[in-house]
Amino acid sequence: MKLSLSKALGLLNRSISFNKPHHVQWMLTYRCNYRCRSCDVWRGQKPVKELSTDEVIAGLEVLRGMGVMEIVLSGGNPLLREDIGEIIDYASRFFVTTIYDNGSQAAKRVEALRKADFVAISLDTLDEKKYDYLKGVHGAWKAAMDAVETLHKQGITVGVSPTISQLNMYEIPEFTEHFCERGIPVLFCLYQHDSLKQPMFHIGEKDDELEISDKVAFAKICDALIEKKSRLHGILITRKMLNALKVLALKEERMWKCKALQSFFVIDPLGNVAGCHLQKPVATIYELPKLWNSQRFEELREIYRKCESCSYMCYMFYSIHANVQGNIEILRDQWKNAKEILVR
Ligand code: SF4
Ligand code: SF4
Repeated sequence: MKLSLSKALGLLNRSISFNKPHHVQWMLTYRCNYRCRSCDVWRGQKPVKELSTDEVIAGLEVLRGMGVMEIVLSGGNPLLREDIGEIIDYASRFFVTTIYDNGSQAAKRVEALRKADFVAISLDTLDEKKYDYLKGVHGAWKAAMDAVETLHKQGITVGVSPTISQLNMYEIPEFTEHFCERGIPVLFCLYQHDSLKQPMFHIGEKDDELEISDKVAFAKICDALIEKKSRLHGILITRKMLNALKVLALKEERMWKCKALQSFFVIDPLGNVAGCHLQKPVATIYELPKLWNSQRFEELREIYRKCESCSYMCYMFYSIHANVQGNIEILRDQWKNAKEILVR
């Protein structure tokens, strides 16, 4: 990841500001060409109107004014939007911009991705057959491996993003080592299914085969990753997160309070905002600034702080590393990776 000086200064300024939502996930589209076992997005796929390019850019301006530092563009597959290059171009001027791809599009959209700070390619395993089974598409593994190689060769900051589940967890230490040794960072997700009724939209599909049942082994994998962090570059998860995951697995205790609609929120393809995808929408992106400090939002935050309905890794991360102290902790933990942020 390379940052321009003006962007770095803007981010620094926002990182030390209080009571700001620092992280946003924008599901730009529900469209997807894959059929993942763990995902509900494609199952409910029907044509849904999406915001236009201008509307997305107006939304990004709102987020900038609110002090947001980091935008994650996902879906569905956001690379299926024709205008994704324009959106990345705009977002990356002001935010740390990450974009997800299931591995099928990135190699075809290199120019559109050039300005992204980080491109995360979903990849769960080094076992081709297993991956194609998980994705529901023949050739998915090969496409993802090709995408990683193509982007890496083109000098784009690309990483792999495995979703840890019962089916792949024993391989995770070796998988991590494989990519980190080749200069490809690893950004983890954890298999979850959506447990709340009436969410803003469904993502996690219940699947007993994927549900982590061997909790002791999972805790050992967290320990193995902590050990690897001291000698390997590019393990994009903090020690604090790994310890919290271990405690959750072994004792079913949560070492964090959820910071939905405080440190982070999500946006759907129509510009509706919710604390997380499991909660109901509470505003549109354009209404957000006037509602952010309202009594109603304070009441919702109080409800979410007590919520224990999920442990999606991204929400957990933004809760554990919330606010100014959290930003400092990330930098301290990720110092080796942060050294790669060069001012140009
Ligand atoms: S997990 Fe991602 S790639 Fe797979 S079906 Fe869902 S949206 Fe598509
Ligand atoms: S714990 Fe937080 S992120 Fe998870 S469902 Fe509850 S409010 Fe949403």
